[in-house]
Amino acid sequence: MGGWVSTVIPLLDLAAQYRELKPEIDAAIARVFESSQFILGTETEAFEEEFAAYCGVDYAIGVNSGTSALHLALLGAGIGPGDEVITVPFTFFATVATIGYTGATPVYVDIDPGTFNIDVKQIEAAITNRTRAILPVHLYGQPADMDPILDIGRRHKLVVIEDVAQAHGAEYHGRRTGGIGDIGCFSFYPTKNLGAAGEGGLVTTNNPEYARTIRSLRSWGEEHRYYPVLKGYNYRLPGIQAAILRVKLGRLEQWTDARRKLAAEYDRLLEDSGVLRPAVIPDVRHVYCLYTVQSSGRDQLQQELDGVGIKTAVHYPVPIHLMPAYTDERYKAGDFPVAEACAHAVLSLPLYPHMSSEQVEQVAHEVHRLSRKTGQETLLSRR
Ligand SMILES: *Cc1c(COP(=O)(O)O)cnc(C)c1O
Repeated sequence: MGGWVSTVIPLLDLAAQYRELKPEIDAAIARVFESSQFILGTETEAFEEEFAAYCGVDYAIGVNSGTSALHLALLGAGIGPGDEVITVPFTFFATVATIGYTGATPVYVDIDPGTFNIDVKQIEAAITNRTRAILPVHLYGQPADMDPILDIGRRHKLVVIEDVAQAHGAEYHGRRTGGIGDIGCFSFYPTKNLGAAGEGGLVTTNNPEYARTIRSLRSWGEEHRYYPVLKGYNYRLPGIQAAILRVKLGRLEQWTDARRKLAAEYDRLLEDSGVLRPAVIPDVRHVYCLYTVQSSGRDQLQQELDGVGIKTAVHYPVPIHLMPAYTDERYKAGDFPVAEACAHAVLSLPLYPHMSSEQVEQVAHEVHRLSRKTGQETLLSRR
């Protein structure tokens, strides 16, 4: 070792997943070619069944992306023009874009500064007589505080739709995400905890009526071939993706445990390091899709880490209400101070199931060294 060749630590390593499972993935792909059931088919049906069991729900409907899952969940719940849906301004913008697809209006509630999830204390103030749903996001893999959300939902007769795109297998008070609210929306984008070899998504629910509508809308709303009874979409999950996802689902618990173990190592090693570690609420299983810290000198820290071969990312640099495509006369800078502050401070460190403890130690060591060098102070937790 030594010399000028330093090893790069990537943000994540998807090729390692393939190397671990190559024979099984190759066989799964071959199976789909042999059957030539490329769209939906037996692999998709089997995956839906297995993923429903994994989440502890009655119904799972495979779709072609997390975005489609959100869109169909909202439509399945009857959301449309004139309705309002409560969500957060600090998320991947698909959460908000899909509300717009239905003709409904997103209404934002700020996030909690410790967990980055919806601040449940502020939800009721955002409810109007047009509110139809609450759409919490389990950001970075930590469940939102669902009990108060379900309670508010029940009292105001609102549908609760979970955005589970970053939280496969997460748990809240012993319940799996995706089966806590009325509908759950998963993404299998390659970088998610369970990732396809392309696009993929899925909707979970225990409500047979929602399941029937969503299943129909996913494939043109056909009652039978070439006879649509609903104006539907081409949102089907391809057989090859389902076959690959079935193989990876078999490893998800192991991979999640690995993520949690590495996150615990970060937690220990980053004490007094000049960055704020992620806060975890009691009695949840955080699945660490991302290990995201906060730094008052985020941009410089990111640049310095890059200089020593440590790849990081910012999820997300701009809150939705300040993005050019989603600006809205109802909202201006300053309206969601916590989301806006987090957008300036968050930094996701490398974390993936095949990462080694030595790599975590190396990252933590450099964070200590560089945040001291750049003169950063620990942000005080605003909890
Ligand atoms: C990835 C993601 C989505 C969208 O999923 P796609 O599969 O990319 O369409 C939605 N919400 C959140 C929070 C996400 O992270």
